Amino acid sequence: MQTVSKDTVVYTMSAKNKPVLHADPGTQITFETWDALHGQLKSPDSGFDSLDWDRVNPATGPVYIVGAEPGDVLSVKIESIKVADSGVVVAGKGMGVMGNNLEGVATKIMHIKGDTAKFSEKIHIPLNKMIGVIGVAPKEDEIPCGAPDHHGGNMDCKEIKEGATLLLPVNVPGALLAMGDLHAIMADGEIGITGLEVAGEVVVTVDVIKGKALPTPMITNDEYIMTLASDEDLDVAVDMAVANMVDYLTHNEGFTKHDAVMLISLIADVRICQVVDPKKTIRVEFPRKFL
Ligand code: CA
Repeated sequence: MQTVSKDTVVYTMSAKNKPVLHADPGTQITFETWDALHGQLKSPDSGFDSLDWDRVNPATGPVYIVGAEPGDVLSVKIESIKVADSGVVVAGKGMGVMGNNLEGVATKIMHIKGDTAKFSEKIHIPLNKMIGVIGVAPKEDEIPCGAPDHHGGNMDCKEIKEGATLLLPVNVPGALLAMGDLHAIMADGEIGITGLEVAGEVVVTVDVIKGKALPTPMITNDEYIMTLASDEDLDVAVDMAVANMVDYLTHNEGFTKHDAVMLISLIADVRICQVVDPKKTIRVEFPRKFL
């Protein structure tokens, strides 16, 4: 097993980033990751105002996947996610859906014990550990790690969790996989702009799929095939994610376009991943038992 240290961070996904590791398809890699705030908030009064925003949203990597060529699909199976023993959640002015209706900023450190984190004496919340930022180098230019797009990035999707496989496009030789921004807990929407932000460690198995065009990014697990799309406009993101699922069903499962639309309308839930990042992210969940 190869390990990527959390000392190797990038703040953009870009073909210009130097790979910190070369990995063969089929191998397991451990990524040590920072929380989205780069560990800067350690106590409720550790000074949100003095945050260095240039250090927000670090991703660990990138890793060069040997043999991955533009046009291939990169498969990233999430084997395990380990999180630190505490995380941070924030709400305040200018942040998220309620940002215009809040004064000041409140920071809460939540301690994690076993499978729950403590919000208050009364409220202990079960963990749903997930990866907020995970992606590859885009085709052109660079994209800040804080933004989601066709290359993955800050999709903040709670289905990117243990046991799931994320499918990403390969845009540049080696794909250049990077990830960070683990959440110990997050709900669909992430309306306040943070989940329970934690440092941690992710073990993945990477693979390269040749000769198969897929409407990436996608997620598969035992129950669902999911398409994801991000746009500034939530309506447009819905249209894109649905069109991607229609594309998948017609080109890979043999349905006509009309049947695909009927089936999605009947059995595939359209869900919000997040509405607070530079682009908003939607997913469509198609149950595999009908395929
Ligand atoms: Ca995030």
